[in-house]
Amino acid sequence: MGTGVGLACDKCGFEMALSEGVGMCGFDSDEDAVRAYCGSAEARKFRALLLGKSGELSDLGYKIYECEKCGVWQQKSAVSVVFEDGSSYVRQHRCVSCRSKVSLQIDIEDRSSHLNSDGLYQSKCRKCGFVGFRAVWESLWD
Ligand SMILES: [Zn+2]
Ligand SMILES: [Zn+2]
Repeated sequence: MGTGVGLACDKCGFEMALSEGVGMCGFDSDEDAVRAYCGSAEARKFRALLLGKSGELSDLGYKIYECEKCGVWQQKSAVSVVFEDGSSYVRQHRCVSCRSKVSLQIDIEDRSSHLNSDGLYQSKCRKCGFVGFRAVWESLWD
């Protein structure tokens, strides 16, 4: 289950699609699930982690992050693995715009924290730098 929203910059019209949701079900194996979210090269890395240190997938799904450095919102596929000894591996993300590490997660459904008084989402635009996005579509997926 997840939700998605299409946002358009109120100044230049630049559009972005952001989704959040979890989806481990429907896959035959953890490896298939990881591949669906990460691409095959990274899935191989996770397979080695899962098998080699008897780890277990603890989190998998699309999440929305805000770059703390430049303020741009973006969708990333989050994956984390927890090992028997209690240690864990969390997939690192880099900002699509400034390449710094992003770790601040946003709950897009929590509108009161993310909308300004004009009803605009407080993401910075990658194209023009304006802060203010209008929702152009919303969807639910299984
Ligand atoms: Zn813009
Ligand atoms: Zn950034």
